[in-house]
Amino acid sequence: MNHNLYLQFLGNFEHDPDKVLIDTPSGETYRYRDVLSTSRRMARVLRDTGVERGDRVVVQVDKSPQAIMLYLACLQTGAVYLPLNTAYTEAEVEYFLSDAEPRLYVCCPADVETARSLAQRCGVAAVESLGSGADGSLMDRVESAGEETRVAELEADELASILYTSGTTGRSKGAMLSHGNLAANSQALAQTWRFTADDHLLHALPIFHIHGLFVACNIVLTVGASMTFLPKLDAEQLLDLMPRATALMGVPTFYTRLLASPRLDRTTTANMRLFVSGSAPLLAETHREFSERTGHAILERYGMTETNMNTSNPYDGERRPGTVGFALPGSEVRITDRESGKALAAGETGLVEVRGPNVFQGYWRMPEKTAAEFRDDGFFITGDLGLIDADGYLHIVGRDKDLVISGGYNVYPKEIEQWIDEIPQVAESAVIGVAHPDLGEGVTAAVVLKPGESLDESQVLAALEDKVARYKQPKRVFFIDSLPRNVMGKVQKNALRDRYADIYR
Ligand code: ATP
Ligand code: MG
Repeated sequence: MNHNLYLQFLGNFEHDPDKVLIDTPSGETYRYRDVLSTSRRMARVLRDTGVERGDRVVVQVDKSPQAIMLYLACLQTGAVYLPLNTAYTEAEVEYFLSDAEPRLYVCCPADVETARSLAQRCGVAAVESLGSGADGSLMDRVESAGEETRVAELEADELASILYTSGTTGRSKGAMLSHGNLAANSQALAQTWRFTADDHLLHALPIFHIHGLFVACNIVLTVGASMTFLPKLDAEQLLDLMPRATALMGVPTFYTRLLASPRLDRTTTANMRLFVSGSAPLLAETHREFSERTGHAILERYGMTETNMNTSNPYDGERRPGTVGFALPGSEVRITDRESGKALAAGETGLVEVRGPNVFQGYWRMPEKTAAEFRDDGFFITGDLGLIDADGYLHIVGRDKDLVISGGYNVYPKEIEQWIDEIPQVAESAVIGVAHPDLGEGVTAAVVLKPGESLDESQVLAALEDKVARYKQPKRVFFIDSLPRNVMGKVQKNALRDRYADIYR
């Protein structure tokens, strides 16, 4: 049997070739027929370039329908699709190119010169360009290429993609994702979230992370649905498009931005059936406000580059704010003790571990790191801390690396952040551990106030006094304009730790 993920999609291209797969707000439409034809020509160009099964293709281009066609062409060829954030600097790209040793590097048309010299330094044989307006040297070659129809015959564990993690806790690691991993996860998600060919997804995420690339696009391709590609998050544009869409996948920032628009209400969202959130924690308060305004309960799920999606709140049944729901079909989740590694009972906080067909093949060229993150029975240690409540819902408490150990006691930042966020003047907060001469780490809070509000350090401390034990109370509270976040809405606690590194010295 051929386990190539491409075959999971191919039937939809043949079933309804005239159906639109991707459209854009500027009125471009790409039918299933067009996407199939272009991606087959791209597959021919890949072959002509010498790209073979197992070869890496590094793709660092702006978001466009053609980038998805290139992804499909890589699957068809059996090449390993390796997308990179367009924001990376030359030095960063150099690291990725020498680490991945690709056969081909596809860059933005404006960057061809730099790309060529980079490629030469890193021993990459071929460079092509692809622009967001269907321009660039790759499209020139596609125009004159014939359609390649052969589909590489692959095992389930052969690589479809190497996806670099977001780099929130350190240097990005290349997660090796197989055809079997991606196929299993998109099927589980399509089923859990009831996706059908009638769905139309609003796609405003970047396509170099697991969320925008595999969660969003693979589901649409698996069920034969359609989607609108937006270059970036624009709440007003999303609201304009909602009457003809059925689903939105976003990071929490999407929902706070939508809530900031007075147009968000039951009428504008009447045609929508599903709002999904993930990549970073969604505040329970955002969840509640959104359902008050629209009548829709946001469905929060939990995943990571290494594992695809692990858990989801239920489609039917209670979508519990502040939780990420239950293990997806075929996947398992357990909580273990940080020190002993023993399984913990309901309600106890520990390491979140997962196992299933969704879990990756290891970190690219990091066998020791890979071995260190897996248990003998095949569970992957996610690096997140969480608990499973009495009803079976998983709660993500934070990252193991963000745990604060003060005077020998564990302090879970989220617990303190939740209390601080309850102070009426506070918009949001982040609690970190900072080196402290007596305590090892001192609990430290960075607080963002709501517009026009004022508050001082002693008022924050007073508000926490009878809420949490003394050892958990912040030693210092700082006020900042906004929390440092990356494009996926993840709070960059490393940046905060650097900023306050010397305060207790
Ligand atoms: P790095 O591993 O390089 O430090 P990263 O972990 O941020 O970066 P990703 O794989 O993109 O890279 O993100 C996965 C992480 O995002 C998870 O481990 C978890 O901490 C967080 N996350 C994802 N979904 C949720 C969610 N619904 N609630 C809370 N955290 C989430
Ligand atoms: Mg991670």
